[in-house]
Amino acid sequence: MSQILIIYTGGTIGMMSDPVTKVLKPINFEQIMDNVPELEKLNCKIQVHSFDEIIDSSNMNPAIWSELAGLIQSNYDTVDGFVILHGSDTMAFTASVLSFMLENLGKPVIFTGSQLPISAVRTDAKENLMTAIEIAKAKKNDRARVPEVCIYFDYKLFRGNRSFKYNSSKFEAFRSPNYPILAESGVHLKFSLNDIKHPKEGAPLIVHKNLVSDVAVLKLYPGISPKVVETILTADVRGIVMETFGAGNTTTDEWFVTLLKNAIDSGKVILDISQCKVGTVELGRYETSRHLKDVGVANGYDMTYESAVTKMMYLLGQYEDPKLVKEYLEMDLRGEITVS
Ligand code: ASP
Repeated sequence: MSQILIIYTGGTIGMMSDPVTKVLKPINFEQIMDNVPELEKLNCKIQVHSFDEIIDSSNMNPAIWSELAGLIQSNYDTVDGFVILHGSDTMAFTASVLSFMLENLGKPVIFTGSQLPISAVRTDAKENLMTAIEIAKAKKNDRARVPEVCIYFDYKLFRGNRSFKYNSSKFEAFRSPNYPILAESGVHLKFSLNDIKHPKEGAPLIVHKNLVSDVAVLKLYPGISPKVVETILTADVRGIVMETFGAGNTTTDEWFVTLLKNAIDSGKVILDISQCKVGTVELGRYETSRHLKDVGVANGYDMTYESAVTKMMYLLGQYEDPKLVKEYLEMDLRGEITVS
């Protein structure tokens, strides 16, 4: 019989409305289980680890990410798959960072949650939870069907580091426009076998728990002033994610290029990702991005914002040398970018 470990971190799935204030607050896992008697019918053994402090995912942080990675590591040999119950607000950040922290992952780590609490009459939580467990235990020829960090939400399975929350009101909360969905649930659970990544045969799981969260974000807009750009580029951080226009373009004003160059010369790493949710950065395609390549800005290709920030934290934790950080940022490490 398959063994699944459910890790409960919090989120709407396990919240209840306070009878007095009407504010949604987390409840404990036993109360969640009481709402899904169907769990007994799944042909698998479920263990549960509930975090001491159940949180709304807006309070998620790198210390909890390291704890999660540690939990997966210590249970890795004894279970077939993991289901992580997590608030949807920052689920894509946690799924992205775990994909980087878990090198050579060979078992499913499936994140899910819901838009309505599990106790609500019209809840989406039950389907999300039941199917996430089905996916976590799915095997073919004794191998996991999806040995990746994924998000399962509203009948679709996404690669975690390709997805983002795009809708706060619909059940269809996630999208991954730059990569195909890995599975779809309908009458049958259909896996997109060609799009699923597998680790090298026999490669052992390596868990990287060291993250450096010294990361700033520079989101450009027409008219951004030298003062604002300088404040961000001279902040006491090692990495900067720069959200640019279209295919990775920025102003060509001399003051801007000089500030970028100074930041890079001082040892900072700057990663260019696009404000567009679909498509890719193409450094050097336009006049307005050639200078970025020249000064040594890293190409983020079609990386999501969530992946960019967490990949930066992961790589800063791995390497001191900014040149190495840049080199790895531009490489496809866990299926997070399409390098053209
Ligand atoms: N605020 C909640 C959270 O992220 C929303 C959700 O669970 O969907 O924890």
